[in-house]
Amino acid sequence: MRTQIIRVTAPLRHRALTQPVLSARLYSTSSRASPRFTPGNKALRAAPSIPFLGALFSSKAPTEEMSYPDQRSDDQWRAVLSPEQFRVLREKGTERPGTGEYDSHYPTKGVYTCAGCDAPLYTADHKFKSGCGWPAYFDSIPGAVTRHTDSTFGMKRTEIVCSNCGGHLGHVFAGEGFPTPTDERHCVNSVSLRFTEDADAAAKKPAEKSKA
Ligand SMILES: [Zn+2]
Repeated sequence: MRTQIIRVTAPLRHRALTQPVLSARLYSTSSRASPRFTPGNKALRAAPSIPFLGALFSSKAPTEEMSYPDQRSDDQWRAVLSPEQFRVLREKGTERPGTGEYDSHYPTKGVYTCAGCDAPLYTADHKFKSGCGWPAYFDSIPGAVTRHTDSTFGMKRTEIVCSNCGGHLGHVFAGEGFPTPTDERHCVNSVSLRFTEDADAAAKKPAEKSKA
């Protein structure tokens, strides 16, 4: 009688002990499953970190599914962009603060175009000194920049991309108290931009390209 009970309960106890250990191995970055691991609460607490880790390791945000007039593939972009341009524009990277070509660049006239597709994005008049370490603009050329909600890294930010090719520019922040007409700061990676003094030439480029 006694041995029968042990035979029935042994497989059940075995399963109850091994399942949490298995999930601990899946969810933990450590390969050492603790022998003192207790099932239940700890496994549940470990699980919510998975979507966050997924966001860190994913190079593509959901906004990547949006469609833009310039539909070049990653391989086509790699052929025309530098590795750093590709990392920032196509993989939503960020250049180190204070290192960008246009961080302390204050021309009296001219246009900043998209470094990927040449679409005019900002004029020299939009630029202001923010001291943040990246080029800052209080506004863009109308319609040139598209906004998305960016929820990566546990923050709620507004990502800005080129409306023509979807290339990542940076983020826009509002209500910081800058004495500009909009009190918005388009915080843009220099590597996403190209400056030209000749605004007319910059404006013609995308139209010429679409005809070709
Ligand atoms: Zn673009």
